[in-house]
This record gives sequence, C-alpha cells and structure tokens, in this order.
Amino acid sequence: MSSPSIVWFRDDLRLADNPALRAALDRGEPVICLYVLDEESAGVRPLGGAARWWLHHSLASLAERIGERGSVLVLRRGAAASEVRRVVADTGAGAVFWNRRYGGPEREIDAELKAGLREDGLEVGSFAASLLFEPWTVRTGGGTHFSVFTPFWRACLHLPAPRHPLPEPREIAGPDARIDSDALDDWALLPTRPDWAGGLRESWEPGEPAARARLRTFLRDDLADYDIARDEPASGVTSGLSPRLRWGEISPHTVWHETMASGGDAGRFLSEIGWREFAWHTLFHAPDLAEVNLRRSFDAFPWPRLSPSHLEAWQRGRTGIPLVDAGMRELWHTGIMHNRVRMVTASFLIKNLLIDWRHGEQWFWDTLVDADAASNPFNWQWVAGSGADAAPYFRIFNPETQAQKFDAHGAYIGRWAPDSRSIEPLVDLKESRKAALDAYDVVKRSG
Ligand code: FAD
Repeated sequence: MSSPSIVWFRDDLRLADNPALRAALDRGEPVICLYVLDEESAGVRPLGGAARWWLHHSLASLAERIGERGSVLVLRRGAAASEVRRVVADTGAGAVFWNRRYGGPEREIDAELKAGLREDGLEVGSFAASLLFEPWTVRTGGGTHFSVFTPFWRACLHLPAPRHPLPEPREIAGPDARIDSDALDDWALLPTRPDWAGGLRESWEPGEPAARARLRTFLRDDLADYDIARDEPASGVTSGLSPRLRWGEISPHTVWHETMASGGDAGRFLSEIGWREFAWHTLFHAPDLAEVNLRRSFDAFPWPRLSPSHLEAWQRGRTGIPLVDAGMRELWHTGIMHNRVRMVTASFLIKNLLIDWRHGEQWFWDTLVDADAASNPFNWQWVAGSGADAAPYFRIFNPETQAQKFDAHGAYIGRWAPDSRSIEPLVDLKESRKAALDAYDVVKRSG
C-alpha cells in the first residue's frame, strides 16, 4: 500500500524552484497536489476581486501543468486546516509538505496543523520559498528586527547568498485512485455580473510559463534602462513581475540568480526586490500592519469625517488631477499601477483629500492583481508617514510637478486620462496641502 505525499500549494503556484514539491518527489510515493480556497479561517484576509481573477487563471494553468506531468491538482474549499486533514483522511497520505507563509493568522494555522499532523504520525515538512531571507534571520547588531530599509538590505547582503533555484520536475507520479475535487469554475472567482475583467484579460496571462518569459524579456530588453527610466510610468521598463511574485509563479530565488547571471547592472533592481523582503520583514513583526499605524503617534491624526463622494471620485479617476486620474484608471482597467503613480495617488488621497490611508489600502487590495498582504499596507503606511522608514508626512507629492518630471511628454496621462483637465479639480492643491500640514501638527504635538 502506498502512502502518498500531499503538497499543499498556497502562494507558490509553480513547479520550478518549489522545495515542498521537491521534498514530496524525493519521498518516492505518489504525489497529490492540493490547493485550498480558505475563506473561513479566522483572521485570513479575504482576497480582493482582481486577486480572485488572477488566482482562477493561475490555478487553471498550474492544474494543466501538473496534469501533463502525471498528477492532479485537487481543489478544496473551506477552513484550510480541516480541508488538509480531510484530504489526508481520504487518501491515507503519509506526509504533507508546504512552503512557508509569513502572515500572522496563516502562521498560526500552519503551526497548529503541523503539530497535529505530526502527533498523528505523519511526516510534515515546511520550506523557505517565497522570500530570499526569512524574516527572523535578519537581525540588527542588538538582535532586534529592522525598521529602516538601508541597514536591513545591507544586513541581507551580508547573509549567505540565496540558494540556487531547484529545477522543474518533468514527471509527478500521481495517486492511483480518484480524489474528490471541486471544479474551479464552481468557485466563481471570475466576475460575471458585470464582467469587469476585460481589461485584465487584455493585459495579463497568469501562470508560470508567462512569468518565466516575462523575466527573460525584462532582463534582455529593459534591465539596462531600469536605473534611469524606472520612475517614468510611460517607459515600460519595469519588470512587471509583482503579480508573479505575489502568487509565487516565479520564485525570488529564480529572479535573483537569473538577474545576476544576466551580467547587467543589477543593484538597483535587486534592491527593489529587497523592498519586498523588507515589507514582509515588517509584516512578520507587525501582523496587524493593514489596520494599525506602525508609529502610534499617528493614532492622534485628526481625520475629518469621510467624504464618500471624494473617495469615489478618487477610486474612479475623476479628481480633475490628471496624473491621479490616469493612475486610478490604469488600475481599474489593468489591475496594476506604476510605482511612482501609486505613490502620487496614495499621497493625494491621504494628504490632499485627507482620507485615512486604510480606505486607499482597501481599494488597492480589491483592485490590484499584485495585492500583497505585506507590500500593500507597508507602502500605504510609507506614503502616509505612519510606517517603517516612511516618507516624512510633510513631504507631500505635488501631482502636477510629478507629472512634469516623470511624464514630461504627457504620454501616460494622454493614454489613461486625456479628459481629466476638463474635470473641475476636487480640491485646490495648495490649500489642501496646507490643511494636511495643520492636521499633522496635532500628531507632532501628541508624539
Ligand atoms: P519593479 O520595479 O520591476 O520591481 C521588481 C519587484 O520588486 C516588484 O515586482 C516587487 O515585487 C518589488 N518591489 C518594487 N518596489 C516595491 C515596493 N515599494 N515595495 C515592495 N516591493 C516592491 N507591490 C506589490 O507587489 N503589491 C502591492 O500590493 C503593492 N502595493 C503598493 C501600494 C502603494 C501605495 C505603493 C506606493 C506601492 C505598492 N507596491 C506594491 C510596490 C510597487 O508599486 C510594486 O511592487 C511595483 O509597482 C510593481 O511593478 P514591477 O513589478 O514592474 O516593479
């Protein structure tokens, strides 16, 4: 009698460089690949709409690739720990493997499940796969975690170099018996009424093969210009890898080593990968990053009563400020927004409309295909000035100057919001800036 191994896929929807899958294959028994859609466990943040769209397509691609290699992707929906246990019971599995997660509720689920399965006599293995440097391995001289990026990244670069990626398996021996699985379509991850995903379909091809191709194209065509043009939203020179890394269609180890091997000047690009590491380092030590100001003095910020019409104008790209409107419309259409424009639109919401950063974070969470439990709240707090190593509150992006500097020929605005100038601006940039600085004085006095 065989005792199959279960590989529990989570934010690692790939076959290459997947240590959990490798461990299962090395065990030599049939391999059951499992994905659980968990909308029930306490504290797990429900996915946003754009993320659900991506997940559907990425799972479809993964299932096809696993099928081609001889196994199946079993889909279950429910509280993750109960579903994993159910599949163990259904199949008589003798081992469960997964790659580690770093969010607070997810860690609790995984630790409890690991202990329980081991008590039941199963072999359980968890692996580092989603980050180059696991959060607890990067420590200051005083043994604490980092709250400033530059020394954090310097410390990372002094650690042993990230391991080389594992090759993609050619075969995955599947179980003999059929295992109950949900049908992906029944999960209704795709929007239907209305189907707002047309722009996403035009913009993306989720899945591991496209992720790998994207990295290669970026390294060949764009890395050389990255340093100088990465801040220009119309330049198209950034990697576009953020949703790929978010869903684990490609590992940061693969990105790291292929970038190094490309022979280009990689320092700047790899330091951006470092910001992703830093966001997770921060979330690991502050699991409530999406809800609570890291700098608690910000709790005193006197947010005025929310103006729903201002929030909606921002969400829909109808503020009358061209760069802001262009960014918000790009986001709505494609599920992505250029980093410079994310900073400008976030700053405008917080510091010109005086709307609490948490409203903006939630909108991005719902609309970004790369919506990431660490990077999204981390960056919102960075812009707000309440976060780790944050931009000072008084540094308020002027969207007009930013547009002159980074979209000098108006190509980006012309593409996404050519009509914005004809919309009456929601607020006066100068006056609203002054109101924000006055409000910030309250924080300064209380801090
Ligand atoms: P590249 O410039 O090619 O960078 C390579 C990779 O480095 C990215 O794919 C990403 O994984 C990482 N990276 C780059 N900049 C950052 C950063 N500031 N913080 C963390 N990682 C970074 N990024 C997300 O992946 N998910 C989010 O939910 C997210 N929300 C954001 C919200 C705000 C308000 C802001 C200002 C930034 C946010 N970012 C987020 C960071 C950044 O905007 C995106 O990672 C970047 O635009 C993705 O494009 P790219 O892959 O072409 O980036």
